[in-house]
Parts: sequence; structure tokens; C-alpha cells
Amino acid sequence: MSGSTRLPIHSSTINVTFLGTASAMPSSTRNHSSLAVRLGSDVWLFDCGEATQHQIQKSNVRMGKIEKVFITHTHGDHIFGLIPLLAGCLNGNGGTADGVEDPRTEIDLDAPPFEIYGPLGTRAYVRNALTYTHTLLSRPYVVHELRFPSDPQAGDYTDLPPHRSESRRGRNIPQVDGVWLNVYQDNILSVSAAPILHSVPCVGYTLTEAPVPGKVDPKKYIPDIKRTSTPMTVMRLLQAGESVTLSDGTVLQGPQPRNGRKLVILGDTFDPSPMIPISQDADLLIHEATNAHLPGIVANTRDDDTYESVQKTAMERGHSTPQMAGAFAKRIGAASLILNHFSARYPGNDDVDAEAKTIMDAIANLAAAEFGKPVVCARDLMSVDIGFRAID
Ligand SMILES: [Zn+2]
Ligand SMILES: [Zn+2]
Repeated sequence: MSGSTRLPIHSSTINVTFLGTASAMPSSTRNHSSLAVRLGSDVWLFDCGEATQHQIQKSNVRMGKIEKVFITHTHGDHIFGLIPLLAGCLNGNGGTADGVEDPRTEIDLDAPPFEIYGPLGTRAYVRNALTYTHTLLSRPYVVHELRFPSDPQAGDYTDLPPHRSESRRGRNIPQVDGVWLNVYQDNILSVSAAPILHSVPCVGYTLTEAPVPGKVDPKKYIPDIKRTSTPMTVMRLLQAGESVTLSDGTVLQGPQPRNGRKLVILGDTFDPSPMIPISQDADLLIHEATNAHLPGIVANTRDDDTYESVQKTAMERGHSTPQMAGAFAKRIGAASLILNHFSARYPGNDDVDAEAKTIMDAIANLAAAEFGKPVVCARDLMSVDIGFRAID
């Protein structure tokens, strides 16, 4: 278990920036999959498709702040950008001629590593790619793998010895009761994962913030505290939500903590139901919607296509329609839903192009009809702040 101490994240500084929202084929308006979650000053990436590094340069996300990458599955459109990203973040470019010292050959493997999480194969992929490209890194990295019950539970899935920058502390995390609970946890944030059904082993992640202390209104307490000559340090207990009995028997109750925020980020899927135990009441669900049936809206819709036939084809390829995403969002009681991972038929310039807007609005509406709330279709470099839910 990782365990650094993190300062509380103040309201509205959990932010999601979509770096890539395409499915298999990137287009001029959509890059391959990746999104950045900004948590205070830290940045965590979820998936890292080809050219994610380029997208970061165009966004407000700072490369130097990326500390962790969570990979949903090892399909290229979700992982091909990981090696260049690692090289970019960890000073992995350039080298020295024979006989000239390069400090990167003397890595302190006990230094805090750059962390990567993903299914079986992630570690072997990174190790092999770094080794065969002679890449040197200035800091260690570590790969923790989420092992499915059908996977080998030990070993690295490659005969190649660890890369010289690879921490030996990479864990092989077994699935327990159908989920990988708290694969990362510190005092404020935790990440859990569960399998989601796709054409290859694939996972979804839940990022949960610890309960946030309620706001103390000093005016409410100070008269009683003064009257009973209670030390003001009692405010600390009230701030923590505790109740305090004063010398005259008066009981002061601190404000109840609010639930922390919860983000559910799925990879490619035609059925994410194994995520249900860890995704209830998410503040935000990010769900793929690769294919949609849009007769009269998308020009090359085939005459014999129906909602059912499009859904059947999408599912056969391991993917979802907007309606499926909307239904899942409803099922887990999500507060909001954003769709991503769109077929190249669905343009990502709907903010500036009326035709694109018609298409993407239609996709959002298909999902919203199932969800019962408005739905947003992500576009590249779209940035969303995740606030606290209003207290009922
Ligand atoms: Zn994909
Ligand atoms: Zn895939």
C-alpha cells in the first residue's frame, strides 16, 4: 500500500481534462484516449494513448506534475503514449557517447517512483520498450499490476530482467471478491478498480476522496466556550466533527463531515456491471460511447441499421452505445455522466462546427433519455471541475 500524507484538496480543485476522446482511429479533432485528473497540484493520468504528450502541451496540465498513470487495458489506443510520456516526465531523452558518464545510469531505486497501474502486460510492455529503445530515466518508476483470477499471480510476464530504472517494488495485486480495493491509498485519496467486460482484460477505476470536514461557524460556539472558560483549542475537536461537553453540561456538536467526491473512470466496455460495488453514487461517471445509431443525422447511416443492430455490433466489438452508458449511469446513481471514446465518425469540434454539434447533441440526448439527466460528450482538451454535491 502506498501511503504519503496529502494536504486536503480544497473545493473545486478536482479537475478532469480530456486529453483524447477517440476510439480506435484518431481524427483531426480527436486524439487517442487519455484524461488527466488534477488533484490540488498533483496530476494523475488515466490511459495514455498515442500523442498524449502532445495533447498535454496544448492543455493546462503540467507534465512535471504527473505522478501516476492508471491504464485501463493494454490496447494500443490506451497505452501507446505511455513510453514517450515516461521519457518526457523522467528526463528520458538523449544520451552520452562511450566513455562519458551519464548520471542516469546510477539510479537510486529507493527514491519515490513514478507509479503506473494496469492489467497484466503493462510491466512487460514498459520494461521491453524502455530496454530496446536504450531509454535512460532520471528517476525510478514502478508498475503495479492488477491481476485477474485467470492471470498468473506471480512473475513479470517477460523474461527480460528489470530495466535499470524499474523499482523492484512493483506489486502483483490479486482480485479479491471481484474487485481490487484500494490499490492506492493515502490519507485523502484512494483508488479501487474492478473488471469491465471488453474484448481483452480491461478495468475501470474509482477515485474516492475521504470525507471532508464540515465548515465550522465560530459564532455558533464562542459564547458557550467563553461562558464556561473552555480553552479555544476545543475548536479543533469541533472542526473534526466531534461533540464536546462543556463544564456546565452544554453539548456542542461539530458539523458533520461531507462525503468526499467520487469519480468513476471506465475503459472500453460493453458491460461494466462488475464495477457496481465500487461505483455507487459517483459524482461523475466517465463512460465510453463508441457507436451510436443516428438516422437522418449521420449521412452514411446504413438503411438496414437499427438501434438494436448498432448496439449488437458495438457489443460484439467490446463497446457501448450512448443508451448503454446512460443506463449504467442511472443504475449506479451517478450525479453526472460524460461520454468519451467516440468513433471517428463523430467529430470533436462541436464547439465551433454546427454540423458536429448536431451529431454530438444527438449522442448526448440518446444517453440522457436513459439517464434521466443531461449528458455531456467530451471533446479533446475539455476541462471540468468536480464540485461537491449539494447537501440534501
Ligand atoms: Zn479503445
Ligand atoms: Zn480497447
